[in-house]
Amino acid sequence: MKVAKDKVVAIDYTLTVQGDLVDTTDGSEPLEYLHGHGNIVVGLENALTGLSKGDSVNVRVEPEEGYGEYDEDGEDTYPRGEFPPDVEVGDTYLGVAEDGEELPLNVVAVDDENVTVNYNHPLAGKVLEFNVTVRDVREASREELEHGHVHGPEGHEHD
Ligand code: ZN
Repeated sequence: MKVAKDKVVAIDYTLTVQGDLVDTTDGSEPLEYLHGHGNIVVGLENALTGLSKGDSVNVRVEPEEGYGEYDEDGEDTYPRGEFPPDVEVGDTYLGVAEDGEELPLNVVAVDDENVTVNYNHPLAGKVLEFNVTVRDVREASREELEHGHVHGPEGHEHD
């Protein structure tokens, strides 16, 4: 079975950016995702289409097909009262964009009155280098297709 839309794909992967390790499944279970539903970055998803179990690839993903370009205007300032009292630089909060999509707000500055956050994904503007091995490809269940994501072996495991 080949990797295609609506298949559940299990991959082992290592992600590096400019030689630095960012994320890996090494030492843990492979990542399972539902192909063709935007569950992983689009550049990686496209590169895996048509592969089979056991195939390995190196994939270079440019920012526009990864986590987007870095937005120089991606900072905003809010009254400190809108944040928990112990807010500090380096914290991440989940905000909701106008289109309803959740986006992380990374706190970059705190003073007595204001909190400055940066909307950019930490990997925005980065070229992503994936080394991927396809471990399994299976049919998705009807429930998985309805939800647009994979359900784990224990059934329904939502965040
Ligand atoms: Zn679900």
